[in-house]
Amino acid sequence: MIIKEFISETNKNQMIAILLKHYKVESVKVKLKSMKDHANYDVDRGTLELSTKYKTIKPSQIKQFLITIIHEIRHAMDAKKYGWKRFKGMYEYEMNYQISQNKDEYKDNKYEIEAEEFGQKNYMKWYRIFKKDNLF
Ligand SMILES: [Zn+2]
Repeated sequence: MIIKEFISETNKNQMIAILLKHYKVESVKVKLKSMKDHANYDVDRGTLELSTKYKTIKPSQIKQFLITIIHEIRHAMDAKKYGWKRFKGMYEYEMNYQISQNKDEYKDNKYEIEAEEFGQKNYMKWYRIFKKDNLF
């Protein structure tokens, strides 16, 4: 049995493309960026910024990688649904609301909680599909 040490760039990009297409946010651009977090969705630019720690991924990172991508896709779906400017306003309103309640603007943010649940709920399905298709 051969254990792949790294997932090829092509396969990684293919997984991302399949996910963007499935969730109907194909217009989202993906770029690598050096950052503290795993990823970020830049709502102004419609860009999914992925940490350079995912430049090359190992099979052991695939679960976190999929959760991260699907989490950010949820933000992109919301931006598409409401219009990005309106969603940006809604998101900022929620941040300010949480701060006013002495809560955390991200951890307690309903859009962050929804996006994380969406990632957690859906990653396994894609894990199985991508494994079956030999993408990792
Ligand atoms: Zn998020």
